[in-house]
Amino acid sequence: MSERTLAIIKPDAVKKHAIGDIINRYEKAGLKPVAMKLMRMSKPVAEGFYAVHKARPFFDSLCTFMSSGPAVVLVLQGENAIKKNRELMGATDPAKADAGTIRKAHGTNIEFNAVHGSDSPDTATFEIGYFFPGMEIFS
Ligand code: ADP
Ligand code: MG
Repeated sequence: MSERTLAIIKPDAVKKHAIGDIINRYEKAGLKPVAMKLMRMSKPVAEGFYAVHKARPFFDSLCTFMSSGPAVVLVLQGENAIKKNRELMGATDPAKADAGTIRKAHGTNIEFNAVHGSDSPDTATFEIGYFFPGMEIFS
């Protein structure tokens, strides 16, 4: 089933000049960008995006990181896009990520881990709507 997921190339990966490599991986895996922008989130915007984590000890640090510089925010579309993107990303902690994954290649540690990907259909719907109005998404 073709579906959509929200991906973010986080500020650490943008600083490391990994935008091109990461988008190449999405396209080669059949995940087509149908919306995309380069943006620096304000801290409140990062806090709203990660609201589900607000009780976690790393929440403030995570939101400071996510608002520290420009990030690429994309909607990817393809067969099983949510699961496929999570597989491309690898484990949250790059040290535990499989060889060949984005986080293995570009992540630094469990916080600065290069990319975000929605983890379920409900999350994807919330996250896509958080950054993109319907008229900015191509099909
Ligand atoms: P994922 O991005 O793999 O879905 P989570 O949703 O659990 O992981 O966490 C969201 C983000 O919070 C992670 O991508 C990472 O940047 C950060 N994070 C997660 N766990 C930790 C931790 N233990 N310490 C610091 N930052 C963390
Ligand atoms: Mg998550």
